[in-house]
Amino acid sequence: MKLSTLIERLQKSRGWLSDGLGRMVGRTPEAPVDLAAVEALLLGADLGVSIVDPMMESVRASLDRAPVRGEAARERIRELVRGALLDRLRPCQVALDVSAAKPFVIVLLGVNGSGKTTTAAKLAERYRGEGRRVILGAADTFRAAAVEQLQIWGARLGVDVIAHPAGSGSGSKGGADPAAVAFDTVQAAIARGADVVCLDTAGRLHTKSNLMEELKKVVRVVGKALPGAPHERLLVLDATVGQNGLAQAKHFHEAVGVTGLVVTKLDGTAKGGILAAIARDLKVPIRFIGIGESADDLIEFNAEQFVEALLGSPRQARPD
Ligand code: GDP
Repeated sequence: MKLSTLIERLQKSRGWLSDGLGRMVGRTPEAPVDLAAVEALLLGADLGVSIVDPMMESVRASLDRAPVRGEAARERIRELVRGALLDRLRPCQVALDVSAAKPFVIVLLGVNGSGKTTTAAKLAERYRGEGRRVILGAADTFRAAAVEQLQIWGARLGVDVIAHPAGSGSGSKGGADPAAVAFDTVQAAIARGADVVCLDTAGRLHTKSNLMEELKKVVRVVGKALPGAPHERLLVLDATVGQNGLAQAKHFHEAVGVTGLVVTKLDGTAKGGILAAIARDLKVPIRFIGIGESADDLIEFNAEQFVEALLGSPRQARPD
């Protein structure tokens, strides 16, 4: 994906941060910087207090050391924020290597509405496009609509979907048993020589321990079907939920040990800074970001590109 497309998709966050910074300094070259407004801007981007505090400290220290005003001040602040964001995000840029196992089994986790089913489809499209054979598993048996949604995606993308009829197992609300669907999906993948398995799972009521028990069982059963699997426990987080999403993420992490993250809906929010908070709190690789509803709206996370889309490219050093 071209940087210009990413910039366009992230325009809400970019508008908030980059254009916002422009407004923080007065219109004349002599106007002082409103540091309280800068702080509010950064917090509004959902960077979180524990990231914004040290950022503001370094901004203040820098302006004390070498006072500047107007545009020069804005550029100084932009560079400091850019540097701090990159420092936090670079360590999270670790791509997912699905050629590490065959089949490579990905279990998608996350609360309802975070974008799991859509992400499963996007991953299928991505890996199919790379010439790999993909199988989708509909283990979100709690919601009949989720199974149907995955089947529709599968038909559209030309990818097999393994699902059980509702009421065929001991699953909650009369749905099929998610662990049984997971087991069958992995077995089908082995039998059909598939390269990648994407398993959709349930996401209702993340605070309820029965969901976490169900997910643990899915993970256990996948390991029985294929020793060493699942190879990736991919947590899907909705960026528009902001800091609240972090609490949810911790529940999943504690229960099943998340190995990677997908942050979705970055196209619909000004809170793109949440990625830095996620990086700080979870210390788990951000594998992909979701920037739209189509099958190809999932891109590998790239820290430099992301920060550039948010804040613009670094300016050439110039004499102020
Ligand atoms: P699930 O309940 O976690 O399986 O969530 P879904 O995959 O059903 O997604 C919930 C809604 O979010 C759907 O309307 C999706 O089209 C939408 N969605 C998912 N990912 C993205 C994204 O990256 N950007 C936008 N704008 N919408 C998304």
